[in-house]
Amino acid sequence: MNAPIITRAHGRVNLIGEHTDYNGGWVLPTTIPQFTQVTLTPNQSQTVRIQSSSDPKKKEERSFSYTLGQEKKAGSWIDYLQGITAILTLEKIPLSGFDLRIESTVPEGSGLSSSAALEMSFLKALKLAFDLKFTEAELARLGQRTENEFVGARVGIMDQMACALASSGEALFLDTKTLKFQRIPLPLEHMDLLVINSGISHRNVGGGYNERRAQCEEACRLLDIPELRSLNAQELSRLDSLPDVLKRRARHVVTENDRVFNTVKAIQSEDITTMGRLFVESHQSMRDDYEVSLPEIDQLVELCLKQEGVFGARLTGGGFGGSIVAITKKGKSLQVAAEVLPEYARLTGQKATVLV
Ligand code: ADP
Ligand code: MG
Repeated sequence: MNAPIITRAHGRVNLIGEHTDYNGGWVLPTTIPQFTQVTLTPNQSQTVRIQSSSDPKKKEERSFSYTLGQEKKAGSWIDYLQGITAILTLEKIPLSGFDLRIESTVPEGSGLSSSAALEMSFLKALKLAFDLKFTEAELARLGQRTENEFVGARVGIMDQMACALASSGEALFLDTKTLKFQRIPLPLEHMDLLVINSGISHRNVGGGYNERRAQCEEACRLLDIPELRSLNAQELSRLDSLPDVLKRRARHVVTENDRVFNTVKAIQSEDITTMGRLFVESHQSMRDDYEVSLPEIDQLVELCLKQEGVFGARLTGGGFGGSIVAITKKGKSLQVAAEVLPEYARLTGQKATVLV
């Protein structure tokens, strides 16, 4: 009855389709090998006792306990878990106390969705422990609500859907409005994916992320459309009426959706050159129109693009730090990384790491 329940969720890397999810748009993530694992053991009380392996930056073991139904926003890592039990309690789902042990190899704040991997691994364990009747998409919604309503990050649905449903070797082509998705096999016999963590971590809470989202909403209000999804790349001239900043924000989202469709077509026809070109265009759009890159990240992308055998590279995830994803010739990725990492360290003083 009280045997430990062990569940996992992998981190994700978004191949293309950035900041489109909260605009009702399309995304194309896949999983990374790194994952978060939780061990949940019911403890016959109303107390939740949580332990997570050390915060890599502060190097301190993290532990916390609270009583179910008395969750209070703390402004720290614990909110990602407390928020889930708070929302389930609000939904009148009966829970009882448990001990939770968390171990993770997903780097935190690196644009690879450690937060959604944590939420989804925890929700999967709760589903098993309390026999909850939720589909994967419903679990994803609960994770998103936790970040929106409890943590204070107005994230879209991509990360949770990817951590719940994506698998390695294929991209999850997801319509974030309808949650319909298609699994697109990646031509990994002809190319490598290279993911490099810049060593600069971001925070979604407050700051630039929520501001970008508010700017998109303002653009929609001025354009009198429900969401930016409603515009396609042939209608860009409609953005001319917007103030400059809002025009650039909206242009990123509209053109990025178009790049997602074109990337899917390129993958399906194994056209790796076109995939690479779309990655480069996506990076430029995030850098210049959406302004979520950093000079160090631009440097990392540029260094990759200078290497022989690289088809494309771009910032992945929400930005303001985080990771990049590149496409290289088959078998070339480690050689590219070996050239790029020392040069990046010399130019920026940052220590990057290879994740995939
Ligand atoms: P990302 O999802 O891109 O990694 P976020 O800022 O969305 O970045 O989420 C990172 C935050 O999630 C961390 O600062 C921490 O609060 C929480 N978190 C992620 N993984 C863990 C973990 N294994 N244990 C405790 N907290 C975690
Ligand atoms: Mg996150």
